[in-house]
Amino acid sequence: MPRDYYEVLGVEKSADATTIKKAYRKLALKFHPDQNPGDKEAEEKFKEAAEAYEILGNESKRAQYDQYGHAAFRGGMGGGPGAGGFHDISDIFEQFGDIFGDFFGGGGAGGGRGRSRSTGPRRGSDLRYVLQIDLEDVVEGAKKPIEFECEDNCEVCNGSGAKAGTGRKTCGTCGGRGQVVRQQGFFSMATPCPTCHGAGEIIEDPCDACHGQGRVQKKRKLLVNVPAGVDTGTQLRLSEEGEGGYRGGPPGDLFVEMRVKPHRQFERNGDTLFSQIEVPYLKAILGGPLEIKTIRGKKQIEIPPGTQPYNEIRIPKEGLPSLRGTRIGDLILRAKVVFPKKLKKEEEKLLRQIAKNNGEEVSEGKSGLFGF
Ligand SMILES: [Zn+2]
Ligand SMILES: [Zn+2]
Repeated sequence: MPRDYYEVLGVEKSADATTIKKAYRKLALKFHPDQNPGDKEAEEKFKEAAEAYEILGNESKRAQYDQYGHAAFRGGMGGGPGAGGFHDISDIFEQFGDIFGDFFGGGGAGGGRGRSRSTGPRRGSDLRYVLQIDLEDVVEGAKKPIEFECEDNCEVCNGSGAKAGTGRKTCGTCGGRGQVVRQQGFFSMATPCPTCHGAGEIIEDPCDACHGQGRVQKKRKLLVNVPAGVDTGTQLRLSEEGEGGYRGGPPGDLFVEMRVKPHRQFERNGDTLFSQIEVPYLKAILGGPLEIKTIRGKKQIEIPPGTQPYNEIRIPKEGLPSLRGTRIGDLILRAKVVFPKKLKKEEEKLLRQIAKNNGEEVSEGKSGLFGF
């Protein structure tokens, strides 16, 4: 039968949450494995305190415990590690790390225990590169050179940071524990070792190429294959072109994000392009051929008779290709019908004749200005 949890923490049954937390902290610090290396009894006490706190530090679990005692946490009712006790010290750090945080220099609860020594191979980080391209590049696709700087494994020491033939040695300051303990008022405080920064080891003889960092900055040049049909926001993944791996680990990936620059003439919506064209008024009225500029070059189109201002003329397959598949979008032209500001003598005479025939009253316009 486990001991009564209130007794374990040394608090009254009526104790409030703050008191319980304080009591647990005190015990946890007293029996902390780093303060009592090799002491089995202290370790058991440390686990017992954690188990008690896991229940009493949680409002609903505490209520269950108050009602049913230890029986509340058998047969799966309580769930979690509290039900069966903590088997591993690192479980405790994982669960209550925030409590130790205040005392052990923020998250360093495990005293180097939970922390990986980071000496094995590790994959490099993924990188993101924003690539500006022109709308024209979207039509056929393009090859774009890019250049950037990123971290890479130091090849001289293969990321170890140590000169060839030398290695790491246990840090003398902390004896390999990665932490030093100092007394502050009431408490023993464990802080990361100032010499090894918590690693527990130091490099005997640093590599000249990377100054013991194991990493170097490298300039990278790549040719990015931009496929036809990309749009702003399209991401290309260049496998293993990201930051170099650590100590022989694989590199990360490079994500190239597309930004299509705004175009003077064309607006885009998916694979459809939009453009405005100027249509002389006679051509709008009577219809006729007109040369326009598409994204691919010049093209002769036919303006239908009776075209109104801002009518849309659809030119099939003069838009953009879709990113996947063979579809090509359309070009939609908005007709801006243009009237002359000044008429030629003959033109004015004919127009006046038409107005007269239509019985339409128009101004005299002695000056030859064309006005309605
Ligand atoms: Zn150290
Ligand atoms: Zn190096």
